[in-house]
Amino acid sequence: MNILLKNAFIVTQNENREAFIGDIWVAENRIKEIAPRIDNPGIEEMDLSGYTIIPGMVQSHVHLCQVLFRNMADDLELLDWLTQHIWPMEMHHSAASLRVSAQLGIYEMLSSGVTTILDMGCANHMPVVFEELVNSGIRAFCGKVMMDSGDQPYQETTADAIASTEAQIREWHGAGDGRLNYALAPRFVLTCSMPLWEAVKDLSDQHDLLIHTHSSENKTELKIVKEQTGYTNVTFFVRNNLASEKLCLAHCVWLTDEEMEYLKTFDIKVLHCPGANLKLGSGYAHIPKMLDAGINVSIGSDGAPCNNNLDIFIEMRLAALMHKPNFGVTSIRAQQIFDMATINGAKALGMADKIGSLTPGKYADLTILDLNKIHAIPSKDVVSQIVYSGQSRDVCHVMVNGEWVVKDQIPLAYPEVSPIINNARRECDALLKRMN
Ligand SMILES: [Zn+2]
Repeated sequence: MNILLKNAFIVTQNENREAFIGDIWVAENRIKEIAPRIDNPGIEEMDLSGYTIIPGMVQSHVHLCQVLFRNMADDLELLDWLTQHIWPMEMHHSAASLRVSAQLGIYEMLSSGVTTILDMGCANHMPVVFEELVNSGIRAFCGKVMMDSGDQPYQETTADAIASTEAQIREWHGAGDGRLNYALAPRFVLTCSMPLWEAVKDLSDQHDLLIHTHSSENKTELKIVKEQTGYTNVTFFVRNNLASEKLCLAHCVWLTDEEMEYLKTFDIKVLHCPGANLKLGSGYAHIPKMLDAGINVSIGSDGAPCNNNLDIFIEMRLAALMHKPNFGVTSIRAQQIFDMATINGAKALGMADKIGSLTPGKYADLTILDLNKIHAIPSKDVVSQIVYSGQSRDVCHVMVNGEWVVKDQIPLAYPEVSPIINNARRECDALLKRMN
């Protein structure tokens, strides 16, 4: 696309966090120029007077495969939630139920202004998720979940988990003009054998892939990890040569001081999921302490059945509010939260030079908001306005890689929402029948 976005209030999230009224020139898939005024270079113009342009937001921990289970596993702690509901449901996905689950999640996230996700898939039928990611226009890091132990039915042999992962890397890494990146997804320490972790490490080195897993979410999980391995989670990763800037750990609620140090030393990425940590009663991650220590913290909604939303505005608000009673009212500020949803998400994915801020040369991933709403005015601080009073219904248009993916609040890949809703209800019933 070649277009000049004119007269918008631009929140760049660049190094100086500049925000001003101006123009953005999008050429092909990149931001060519941003300035208070760009004289018409003879291309299409879009007047955005009164609108706000922000970088496309990043959700760094989600499970598209679980969206179909929304509202079906409430009021449980992590391990019961997983073993009684989530694993049996993931195991009984068909290609059709998984496809509509992905459509629901992509629809919800794109229309709330998210342009990039890090997704943990399920074990089977993953090509339909990759197809939806490519077709929807979103930018994604995604991989099938790897589980080869844990003494429960939802697991593969180590060899099958590795072979199917390798096949998907070959087929999907770099698809959709490079918008789709494979991310290795060993579920967590309790479901992965040592040979599987070794294979994950090799694959990550060989193909330069992220390792996306869960860590230190829940006290019982932590206790069992310690009994089984002799280590707490982060120490386990360090001792087994898995700690690096490519290691992305969802949650990190229960850490020792030494593990906090490891996060910083090895540049391990923390994926904060406030909604899920509250709903599963897991606890309060020490996010202000991590930010003070210079650890990269980004933000995700986790699975729809442990949240039960995938709305980045809700997640930003929760992240902004939940730490104040524990750590003090000034312990975390709106700008830090907005960083978590934009540039820190980009850093988590190794994409800080490509997305996460509106900077010339980066991919044209951007979200256009109308904040002239009853719930959002007045305001003299746009970042505070977005974090504390913004809502996903303020999102008007979304661009990824220089192409519109949401126009007038409608994801262009899914112009009709009722077939998706009807199909989701039908596939959910069919899945529950298969489980019985
Ligand atoms: Zn998760």
